[in-house]
Amino acid sequence: MAKKKNRTCAWCKKFTRDGQPVWSLPCKSKINLTKKEAYFTDTTLLSGKIVTALVTSEDSQAKANGIDFVFMCCSEKCAQELKKALEQDERMINIGPLRG
Ligand SMILES: [Zn+2]
Repeated sequence: MAKKKNRTCAWCKKFTRDGQPVWSLPCKSKINLTKKEAYFTDTTLLSGKIVTALVTSEDSQAKANGIDFVFMCCSEKCAQELKKALEQDERMINIGPLRG
């Protein structure tokens, strides 16, 4: 079942309004996520924190660039915190620059 468009920050879970800039953190995964393609999925980090990722679909440009999923954050601070957490979790690798 497809989930509704998620506008919640992956890190702090704060709701972001339409039009509000979001920070994206493109990642590559060592976990097989194909069954969750194009859905938002919750992933538990090694620290126990649950973060929400958007899994890219097979035919998307992001996927063609090797991006398996993207974390959307409400601020640069959240994105940086998440990036730090991912660096300690070798199941997921941040492969792109932080984009706001
Ligand atoms: Zn946030």
